[in-house]
Amino acid sequence: MTNSLSVLGSTGSIGTQALEVCENLEIKVDALAAGSNIELLEQQARRFKPTVVAVYDERRALELKAALKDTNIKVYSGIGGLCEVAQSKDCDTVLNSVVGMVGLLPTLAAVRARKNIALANKETLVTGGSLVMKAVRENGVKLYPVDSEHSAIFQCLQGVSDKKDVNKLILTASGGPFFGKTKGELENVSVSQALNHPNWSMGKKITIDSATMMNKGLEIIEASWLFDMPQEKIEVVVHRESIIHSMVELKDKAVIAQLGVPDMKIPIQYALTYPQRCVGLSSELNLTEIGTLSFFKPDEDTFECMKLCRDAITLGGLCPAAANGANEEAVRLFLEGKIPFLKIPELVSKAMHAQSKISSPNVEDILAADEAARELVKASI
Ligand code: MG
Repeated sequence: MTNSLSVLGSTGSIGTQALEVCENLEIKVDALAAGSNIELLEQQARRFKPTVVAVYDERRALELKAALKDTNIKVYSGIGGLCEVAQSKDCDTVLNSVVGMVGLLPTLAAVRARKNIALANKETLVTGGSLVMKAVRENGVKLYPVDSEHSAIFQCLQGVSDKKDVNKLILTASGGPFFGKTKGELENVSVSQALNHPNWSMGKKITIDSATMMNKGLEIIEASWLFDMPQEKIEVVVHRESIIHSMVELKDKAVIAQLGVPDMKIPIQYALTYPQRCVGLSSELNLTEIGTLSFFKPDEDTFECMKLCRDAITLGGLCPAAANGANEEAVRLFLEGKIPFLKIPELVSKAMHAQSKISSPNVEDILAADEAARELVKASI
């Protein structure tokens, strides 16, 4: 169980909910890091009194340093600052909830500093899965999933004594705001339509990823690394109500599922209290009020991103990093109104297939592949 936590991405949706969990369970907060929202970060710093804070944006870090000069809190900036927070002396666990592959280096820094990881930053495993899992093994630390589907699978696996008994993993997907739409209907969708998620309230990047179903593709890659499963054994089922968070099928065909209200505080808390269960802040599941749970086959022809991610992990090497980098850049351009919705999968595919194959990439290779994919996307508009 976590005694002292560092939170990377503390002003985002997961980060703010994690701090609520910490307050409720009286878990000490040793360090905080955010991208640029220094107003909220200052409030958090005054409330939780960490020893260290970091701001990714260098200019905003200077402003925060000035604002906190009446305290003893050290203020760092840039990717180096995020890595300082990831290694902060007194924490035993690092919650990484930053958005995007910028989370990779801080995750590696935390693992090398022998911190357990509560991972909400799926891009860390998508881009650097082999490196991160190797570092986790070598440093003898634990990696706890925070992503709701992966937490669900992790919880289901607590009831399985032999990993060889697992036939397949079944990830559930809400289907996002465009479930049931045809490609033609997606041609002119607006940013606000894409941001209108039916069940979960999340940051903008992941909400667009849900609309394209890239999010589920990234989650297939994430699950493949976390649970050492080939992508062929990771099935996706669209489940509109987001009540079953994922399932595991065993060799006798028994299926174990984890259910609950769609509230990220449940997986966040379990990652921090594992193996214990604690009374939390979430409301109880009322199945009779929900009445019906529905399930559908995902439409991989309309939502190509999911299929592209399966191809990326099968191709291996730098392909997942290229797919992810292209997606991050394409989502940014879509949010800025510079490209249409359907351009996102097109650019992901192009960047992925432009990537040369390197079998065991190091961190520099991954950063370079990410950069090349972003450049390719920028040059395509
Ligand atoms: Mg998820």
